[in-house]
Amino acid sequence: MVVGDVSTGTELAIIGAGPGGYVAAIRAGQLGLDVTLIEKDAWGGTCLNYGCIPSKALITATDVGYEADTAEEMGIHADVKVDVDQMTTWKDGVVDQLTSGVEKLCKANGVNLVEGVAEFESENKLRVAHAGDGQGSETIEFENAIIATGSRPIEVPGFEYDGEHVLSSRDVLDLDRVPESMVVVGGGYIGMELSTVLAKMGCDVTVVEMLDDILAGYEEDVTSVVRQNAQDLGIDFRFGEAASDWEKRDGDIVVTTENEAGEEFRYATEKAFVAVGRQPVLDTLNLDAIGLEPNEDGHLETDNQAETDVEGVYAIGDVATGPMLAHKASKEGQVAAEAIAGEPAALDYQAVPAAVFTDPEIGTVGMTEQEAEDAGFSPAVGNFPMRASGRSLTTGNDDGFVRIVADEESGFILGAQIVGPEASELVAELGLAIEMGATLEDVAATIHTHPTLSEGVMEAAEHALGHAIHTLNR
Ligand SMILES: Cc1cc2nc3c(=O)[nH]c(=O)nc-3n(C[C@H](O)[C@H](O)[C@H](O)COP(=O)(O)OP(=O)(O)OC[C@H]3O[C@@H](n4cnc5c(N)ncnc54)[C@H](O)[C@@H]3O)c2cc1C
Repeated sequence: MVVGDVSTGTELAIIGAGPGGYVAAIRAGQLGLDVTLIEKDAWGGTCLNYGCIPSKALITATDVGYEADTAEEMGIHADVKVDVDQMTTWKDGVVDQLTSGVEKLCKANGVNLVEGVAEFESENKLRVAHAGDGQGSETIEFENAIIATGSRPIEVPGFEYDGEHVLSSRDVLDLDRVPESMVVVGGGYIGMELSTVLAKMGCDVTVVEMLDDILAGYEEDVTSVVRQNAQDLGIDFRFGEAASDWEKRDGDIVVTTENEAGEEFRYATEKAFVAVGRQPVLDTLNLDAIGLEPNEDGHLETDNQAETDVEGVYAIGDVATGPMLAHKASKEGQVAAEAIAGEPAALDYQAVPAAVFTDPEIGTVGMTEQEAEDAGFSPAVGNFPMRASGRSLTTGNDDGFVRIVADEESGFILGAQIVGPEASELVAELGLAIEMGATLEDVAATIHTHPTLSEGVMEAAEHALGHAIHTLNR
């Protein structure tokens, strides 16, 4: 059916239905705003469809197999077989459940859902091209707009994604069988999480990383635990090399890399997975029409209510400055919606947690010791090694540590770095501690359940105070 051009109006138009856009839409709906949410691909965005959720589903599934396969010491003898079809069906079921939930929640909160590609036509109008041939377009007049168009993977020149030989993270999350071998270009968190999945499924993984370590931005004692475990899983690291070219050979491919001295290296592999980072999607929005320009990093600058330099136009999530994380996108979405509805809302980034779902996991929040020093604090630091945790030992995974960084004078918690089982969950306690202005004494005095991993948080606080029970106070 040809719909033709129609004109509609809305108080708030939101472009993109990822964890930024759909959360903003639901919150705005709760606050009584007339909201239109426009999505060109799939409700839930990258996070639910091609990112956080499918990757964590595969991480869990491969962990189950790997744990069973390596539990002989615990008296478990398993014959593990990976059924990729069934794993995919299960993963897709999880994704479907969540994405249909998003659609239902939006509708239940009165959000008007529009499928199509949006771009700005003028400072108060969007043009939405509906999907499919002859589906026409729609002009939406808005009072306020939120840009939540997220990000896409960065392509390395010469390594354009073809879905067959050169894969993006989306392709890796949708493999129909386990490749014999994979060269992973980029040792960031997406490269490392999915390298771990591939290695646990029996794929021969080589990670090529231009820098001299994985997970740039994390401290060396954090990355070394993950690197060592990855090596134990059979992952081979090639540091100081950049992928420069690839060619087909005998049904496989050969990836060429180059180091700083110009030496070339060649790796024969079945496929290459390029994971060198993501860039904001802003080039398709015709931002000129509203006089908005990205900064030199390609992101939009915003104030503490997520509003851009153009009044009434907000930017949230991966398109806005700051860490490209789903929970950061959602919080910005909530604040933008509340600000538009006239509520007293403001963003506070002092305690944005980050997790890497490698084996073991990493969970961080707030400042590192160095950052605390740079900010003028005299840091008190407490450590607790996972091998001293009863619960950690009973999980069979005792690599890693909990570290708390606090201000020596006041005892206020400033940050934490956790490596080990469930680090992504454990870090939440310290995020709350920072948010509430809790001190080392508060955390140390809080009775933690025994035996749990969270006791390590209490022990690290006690260590910073000089009275740890289960480690030596040095
Ligand atoms: C493999 C992988 C794993 C990840 N794991 C994690 C994790 O564990 N934890 C975490 O916090 N983050 C993770 N991330 C990052 C996370 O997915 C993003 O930070 C998050 O999705 C950003 O949310 P967003 O709402 O800004 O954008 P997105 O989720 O990217 O959503 C943007 C939406 O906008 C739509 N859109 C774009 N342009 C238009 C247009 N012109 N018109 C209409 N619609 C449009 C897109 O189709 C998309 O659906 C992961 C990412 C990947 C790729």
